[in-house]
Order: sequence, then C-alpha cells, then structure tokens
Amino acid sequence: MPVAVAIVGAGPAGFYTAEALLEVLPDVRIDIIERLATPFGLIRAGVAPDHQSTKLVSRRFEQTALQDVVHFYGNVPVGEAVSLSELRSFYDAIVLAVGAGIDRPLGIPGENLEGVYGSALFVGWYNGHPDFRDLQPRLATSSAIVIGNGNVALDVARVLVKSPAEMVSSDLPDYAAAAIAASGIRDVHIVGRRTAADVKFTAAELREIGQLAECETVIDPADLAVPVSAADTRDRRLREKNLAILRGLAAGPHGGKPKRLHFRFNLTPVAIEGGDTVEAMLFRRTHPRDQGSQERLCCGLVVAAIGYRASPLDGIPFSASRGLYPNDDGRVAPSVYAVGWAKRGPSGVIGSNRPDGEVCAAQIAADAAARPFGPAKPGRKALERVLSERRVRTITFDDWQKIDAAEVAGARHPAPRRKFTTLGEMLSVLADRGRRDVSGDDAKRSTPMMQDR
Ligand code: NAP
Repeated sequence: MPVAVAIVGAGPAGFYTAEALLEVLPDVRIDIIERLATPFGLIRAGVAPDHQSTKLVSRRFEQTALQDVVHFYGNVPVGEAVSLSELRSFYDAIVLAVGAGIDRPLGIPGENLEGVYGSALFVGWYNGHPDFRDLQPRLATSSAIVIGNGNVALDVARVLVKSPAEMVSSDLPDYAAAAIAASGIRDVHIVGRRTAADVKFTAAELREIGQLAECETVIDPADLAVPVSAADTRDRRLREKNLAILRGLAAGPHGGKPKRLHFRFNLTPVAIEGGDTVEAMLFRRTHPRDQGSQERLCCGLVVAAIGYRASPLDGIPFSASRGLYPNDDGRVAPSVYAVGWAKRGPSGVIGSNRPDGEVCAAQIAADAAARPFGPAKPGRKALERVLSERRVRTITFDDWQKIDAAEVAGARHPAPRRKFTTLGEMLSVLADRGRRDVSGDDAKRSTPMMQDR
C-alpha cells in the first residue's frame, strides 16, 4: 500500500526530505504543500541576491519535483486553505518543513520605531518576497546599524554597501536596487555583543568583505587581541581563521573608498532612541576594560539580524522560548515529523538540511514498517477535493516552470532573472501562457482556474 506523505514547506528541508523518501520508500506519494506560489523557500527568499551560486541547488530540487510521485501545491497556506488536522486525516505522515520565518525580538525599548527592521523583513524585502516587497525601509540616512555577528548580518551589510555595478549579476528586484542606490548610506556598523573570537560568520563570506568596490573595513585592532577559547579543535580552528581574516580586513588598505563597514564587538543593545524614527542606538560595553560603560551610535536605520523562530501551528506543541516544535530527533507527534529549522532552530547552512531529511525519511519508513499506517489514507485526492471546493488557485510545478521561464526571459543581462514579486504578476504569466498554449499540451495539463487567493 503506498505511503502518502505531505511535506509542508518547499524549502531545502522539504526537498531534501522528499529526495530521501524517494530513496527509502519504494511506494511513496509525496505532496509538497507551499504557502507561496514559488518553490525553494530560503533559496529564493533568504540566500542573498548576489550569491547566485548558492541558489544552484534548486536545480537538484527541481529533479525531485519532476518525479511522477511528487506533486507541488503552491499558493496553499496550511492553516488557511487547509488545516493541519485535515492534512493529518488525509496523509499517513506530515513533515513540517516550514522553517523559522519570524524575527526574534531584541526586547529593548524603541525597537518599534520607524527605521528598525528585523532581518526576516529586510532580507525578504530585498529578495522580492511577496509579503515584504512593500516594506519601503527607511534608507534615507548616512549611517546604518546591523545587529548580530552571523551570516545574515553580513549579507545585509554587504547588500547595503555594494555598488549597483557589483549587483548587476544578482536578482535584486528593481525597486530594491533603486532604493539602495538612492540611499545616502555611507557607514554601516555591524555590531556583535561578544568578542571578535565569537563571531558566527563563515570564512568565505567574511573574506568577501575585503573585495568590495566602494567600501572599506574599519576595525579597532585592539578588539582582535582576544584569546580563543574553544572546547574542540575544529571550533578553535574556525575561530582562529575568522580572527585572521578580521586582522587582514583591519590592516586595510584604507582611504579612497566612499563607504565604510565598521565591525564592532562587545556591545550589548540597550535601547533604540528617536522621536517617531530611529536616531541612535545605545549599547552597554561588555569588555572588561570598559567596566560596563555605555556607547551611543547615531543611525537612521537598524536591522536586527539576531535569529528567527517558527510560528505556532494548530494542534502542534510549540516551544515559545526555542521558537520551534519540540521534537525527539524530528518526531513531533504521532505521524508528524519536523525537519530543518522547524526541527533544530535557525542554524547551519543549506546542506545541513540533508541529514534532517534522511533521518526523517528513515523514521517514516520505520514507522510504516513497524505499524502499518492503517486504512489507506486518501492523500492528494482528498487534498485536491478540499482545495477545489474552497476555490484555491493552486500553483503546480508546471505553472512554476512557466513563471520561472518568464522571470529568466525578463532579466537584463547579466542578471539571472527578474523576479515577480506579487502573485498577480505570476498569475498573469500563466494567463498569457494559457492563452498562447490553448491548443497545445499545456492546455491539457493546466490546473482548473480557481479563485485567486
Ligand atoms: P546566527 O548565525 O545564529 O547569528 C545570530 C547573531 O545574533 C549572533 O551573533 C548572536 O550573538 C546575535 N544575537 C542573538 N541575540 C542577540 C541579542 N539579543 N542582541 C544582540 N545580538 C544577538 O544567525 P543568522 O545570522 O540569523 O543565520 C542563521 C543561519 O543561517 C546560520 O546558521 C547562518 O550561518 C546561516 N546562513 C548562512 C549563510 C551563508 O552560508 N552564506 C547566509 C545566511 C545565513 P551570540 O553569538 O552572542 O548569541
């Protein structure tokens, strides 16, 4: 009897799970259900627009999506279009691959002032995520602060200081390119609450900062004279490598470039100050030499890149403090599994999701073998029935391929694509193609037209 699996979320964690399920379960039906019209999650909406090589992994996911037993249902928000409890009644197993899309709050006064954004919003904005395309961040300032010493903070800082010429090969949407080019940002302060030995940047991303065309790096060499204390050798090596790169950046060359990226350490956020809009940020100095004194940095923009949490889902236990669904190596509840950031929080790189998918697939296969899932579940038949009754305009993988082709065709060389950032734009591509292809094969494959969501 086939095992019917619903994977909620079409990002890397979801696709790696689908790939692993195809390996271990010979008779599986996999439905990937995605809130957005587009697949690939953070590959499209999180990975920086100037890091196109990282996005190439989507080609691998495409091969999985094109398997006969795998169906993609885009534009289907679970909790609205279909409930999780309905999915549990339709499928033998549900995999939560929903990521962690909500910004962790700084929890300090002033964080709701205009000009202060979490990185989920800000990164979503410059990546053309439909939820955040209208953010209109306040960029009319000479000085910005990015809180956090992780790769997201580095992405945000780099995108803010790169020149238009450096972004021509990216898929930065036109509105974001224009807003960043028109901003007066000259100084970006990237601020960590711990020492330079505690940064979480990866070496390749940190090195890239030394190659920016219009921006030089400012670091106080005294901040780099820190002991490296790490329990395991690998961690020690990574910390030493980062410190060596930071020393290289601190050494310069300096002078001649119009923008500056300041790396600051040992500064814990205390408050964000201003009238209606942000004007400055107050920090407590945590280096022993500073004896807890405070420092104020003037700025007109703050982006907090301090991590994310998942959203609660009906009927599923949720840990508010950890921002994830408590689980035993991925097992959340009977027949419900979690992978990726929904399982372990926002850590690791794209490839870290692969072992999650393998573990989850093995668990589903073991559970199916040990305790046959009972009477056959209707799977996609039931899903399609409720979506049709509710007039949900689902996006199939075939639809996505048409949208993808139109984005690629619309790009100005050497950009890889010109992203559509609203559902309406994507649906009009399908309507156009539908008209053009009406006598061809595509007409037979096309999804019945349902009410636009
Ligand atoms: P991250 O690596 O965990 O970094 C979060 C940063 O925020 C840390 O420096 C943390 O400091 C700081 N922080 C947390 N709470 C804070 C607070 N209340 N006040 C001040 N600072 C605070 O997370 P991320 O940058 O969001 O990245 C998420 C994951 O995606 C990471 O695994 C990252 O490597 C990955 N990623 C990878 C790439 C890439 O490979 N190119 C790009 C983007 C993201 P403490 O260390 O003191 O907690």
